[in-house]
Amino acid sequence: MVAGHVVDKEWSFEIKNLGLVRVSSSLLTKLRAYRQLTPNTPESGGVLVGMYLNSGGALLINELTPPQQTDKQGRHTYYRSKSHHDLVRAIWKKSKHHSTYVGLWHSHPEPVPTYSPTDKTDWLNAINYSKYEGNKLFFFIVGQTHARAWLGVNRRFGRKIELIGEYKFDD
Ligand SMILES: [Zn+2]
Repeated sequence: MVAGHVVDKEWSFEIKNLGLVRVSSSLLTKLRAYRQLTPNTPESGGVLVGMYLNSGGALLINELTPPQQTDKQGRHTYYRSKSHHDLVRAIWKKSKHHSTYVGLWHSHPEPVPTYSPTDKTDWLNAINYSKYEGNKLFFFIVGQTHARAWLGVNRRFGRKIELIGEYKFDD
């Protein structure tokens, strides 16, 4: 039931009412580095940044904000501080408003990640209260062997969160 697939080391999803969403290989390399492979590695997280394109796909997700000093990182918990918003705003300005906030990412100490009730609350809050282009946000969880992506849609009749893709890391 997972629609995501790997093309030329990229990860992409075909999204209804949006089109092709690609995750750049450089972003995959960054996400890969946050895998919790040793018992001491804490959860990491931040914001996903992408560019809505006129050609060659609808959206390219190609940047992230890394964990900040003001975040709280535990083995099974992660608290994302407000400083990510300042970072995204700086990226947005520097890119002349091309690079924008498109979702959230964090890591989990499990091979194939599934979201927790806390994650779902966090994501629903993001869908309801954060500012973004359109009505869709992407949520990535980086597991130990796989990363997974969920799409959050803000619809008139309620919010929807669905699994849209899975990416297996090379080793
Ligand atoms: Zn989580």
